Amino acid sequence: MNDDIWTRALAGIKDRIGRQKFDLWFRRTRLVEANSQSIRIGVPNLFIKGWMEERFSEPVRDALRDVCDWDGQVAFVVAKDVFPDVRGEQLAARADASKSVGAVQAPREPKMNPRMSLDEFVVGGCNQLAYAAATDVCFQPEPPFNRLFIYGGVGLGKTHLLNGLWQKLACQGLDGEAVFTTAEKWTNQYIYAITSNGLAAFRKKYRTVKFLLIDDVHFLKSKKGIQEEFLHTFDALDSANKRIVLASDSHPRDLEEVTANLINRFLSGMVAKIEAPDFQTRVRILRKKIERTRHRFPQEVIEFMADRITSNVRELEGALTTVVAYASLKRTPITVDLAAESLAEMVKGPHSLVTIRDIEDEVVRTFGFSRSDLPTRRRTWALCRARHVCMYLARELTHQSCHDIGRYFGDLKHTTVLSACKKMDERLRHDPGLARAVERIRKNLGQ
Ligand code: ADP
Ligand code: MG
Repeated sequence: MNDDIWTRALAGIKDRIGRQKFDLWFRRTRLVEANSQSIRIGVPNLFIKGWMEERFSEPVRDALRDVCDWDGQVAFVVAKDVFPDVRGEQLAARADASKSVGAVQAPREPKMNPRMSLDEFVVGGCNQLAYAAATDVCFQPEPPFNRLFIYGGVGLGKTHLLNGLWQKLACQGLDGEAVFTTAEKWTNQYIYAITSNGLAAFRKKYRTVKFLLIDDVHFLKSKKGIQEEFLHTFDALDSANKRIVLASDSHPRDLEEVTANLINRFLSGMVAKIEAPDFQTRVRILRKKIERTRHRFPQEVIEFMADRITSNVRELEGALTTVVAYASLKRTPITVDLAAESLAEMVKGPHSLVTIRDIEDEVVRTFGFSRSDLPTRRRTWALCRARHVCMYLARELTHQSCHDIGRYFGDLKHTTVLSACKKMDERLRHDPGLARAVERIRKNLGQ
């Protein structure tokens, strides 16, 4: 491959990725080596190498394929001599960027969201540990640990908690010493710093704060160069005993393609999980959110919604908004029927779960009881059996804990639910009639 081919390939790459990105990333590269099997493109540092590998390997290969039918391996390598050549151009590029609208811009800082204050955060069994640990790290004069890693599924309140901590620190006049950001924004700022000669200022900012709160740390997955910079920040703060709270969608060990060093740092502090809220907490969250609306929600509607929407708080909020909108449109008071009607779409959706109530309906239909019979403690053999089938199917088909299921059936202990389920397992093996009935119920529930 000669220089002419490379020049033409560069034009092809520019077409593919756009002039702005091309100027930003490819100007500071040079062809190190190329043959029929592979091409090595020299870049100034490890970070740029990782970034370009991830984004530009494909366009480079495609452009070369167009120019000379080449189909080999594309590699970016750190070539120390690229950087000095680039300095002058970098300054020019920076001047360009500041002139042209939409060019490289400093990423925006996240905003404080008053609806995500700590006062608005409902604490329950699902998030108690994370909440206590987070407030200790930020507000205890001498907390038992300085670093906290919070993890949990989407919509469970991680961002809310971090935002709340940030706001409270600000209220205490510590906003100058606390930074809240997301791993993505942090990364963008880092890139901006590199491309605009602001690396020293960037490092100073992040390595001298007292409180660092970083959300969505899973964004760092498979970004090796960024992880390295992040590790330095982390170590600098850690060695100065500064407070760090991180949030992510998975446990540090489950973060794929994150370097062992970084995972070890994450594990070296406190690690706390936020779980999906249980029934009672869902009820309390709904009540809290309802305070902000001017609508009156009867307790039975709140319980109906908390029973239906079990996956996460974001969906719970969505359900509330839907019901309020529906009531306003119809100009009717909020009742269980109205809530059921307005949520029908939501709970029927592709991710809908069967609720205990659905199971109960189906079980009483199959065994010929009335709905009010079931939750009572009347202990006829047939009723007991129906109740056990309900619990068994609730364990299998809903995401409810034994604790929640027990409470639903008249405050039974969770061990009672567990042993009922075990007995049911046993019975189903020896009673084909019962097994058929259970199968029919499952089918009617669409499972
Ligand atoms: P995550 O970051 O875990 O995906 P968010 O913090 O964005 O979740 O929460 C989703 C929504 O649910 C937000 O509007 C938030 O205010 C609300 N929320 C989550 N947990 C709670 C809680 N414990 N109390 C009150 N609101 C909550
Ligand atoms: Mg979040």
